[in-house]
Amino acid sequence: MDKAKRKAIIAGNWKMNKTATEAAELIDALIPAVKDADCEVVICTPFTSLVTAVEKCKGTNIHVGAENVHFEKSGAYTGEISADMLVDLGVEYVIVGHSERRQYFAETDVTVNKRARAALAAGLKVIVCVGESLEQREQGVTEELVRMQTKIALLGVTAEEMKNVVIAYEPVWAIGTGRTATSDQAQEVCASIRKVLGELYGETVAEGVTVQYGGSMNAGNADELLSKPDVDGGLIGGASLKADAFGTIVAAASK
Ligand code: PEP
Repeated sequence: MDKAKRKAIIAGNWKMNKTATEAAELIDALIPAVKDADCEVVICTPFTSLVTAVEKCKGTNIHVGAENVHFEKSGAYTGEISADMLVDLGVEYVIVGHSERRQYFAETDVTVNKRARAALAAGLKVIVCVGESLEQREQGVTEELVRMQTKIALLGVTAEEMKNVVIAYEPVWAIGTGRTATSDQAQEVCASIRKVLGELYGETVAEGVTVQYGGSMNAGNADELLSKPDVDGGLIGGASLKADAFGTIVAAASK
């Protein structure tokens, strides 16, 4: 598969970090750190920082995303945020199905699918997270599990909509733990995700979809992970909160 056919995307997932004031400061540091990128650069911030982020990133090469979205258009869903609300702010991307949402907020494959479809229908680009727990890896079911998560997340998503879908392979045991998958492990699963995409949508569509790796990617290991043929970028948690580290990862993806 030809890596040049798809866009490398480095996306920061800020999680529940940074007030809007702190977000403004971090973006001021990020803008010069990533300005020469030859890849797509995205920052996914808490809802409360989105207005600031969109405003500050105007005229730069940084795209702004949210970390979650509700699947209904509007209504009695206290505390939730719809896709239209994000679009109206100028937000371009949204993460769905992050393992922390699955683990702490009862996210299921079915609700991931509903969120993805609602976001795509509203015109957002969606980063769909999939990945196995340590127990599942040790049980030898990683490939089946990730195949299933990917297939359910994409139920009803058209080939045309796949232009706006990114899949992030994030082994749960590597997120926020400092324990990174080896580049071979990352490659193996990212390639199997692309295989499922090929079964669902055909080779041409599958070759065009960006498949990221996420899980303790940092300035020291990004080069090696991103050198793999099916690893097209990264979803970065901890290291996205440091402008220099994020800049180094972006530079690695730009080679
Ligand atoms: C993430 O939050 O998606 C993530 C990969 O976190 P970290 O880079 O901190 O492991």
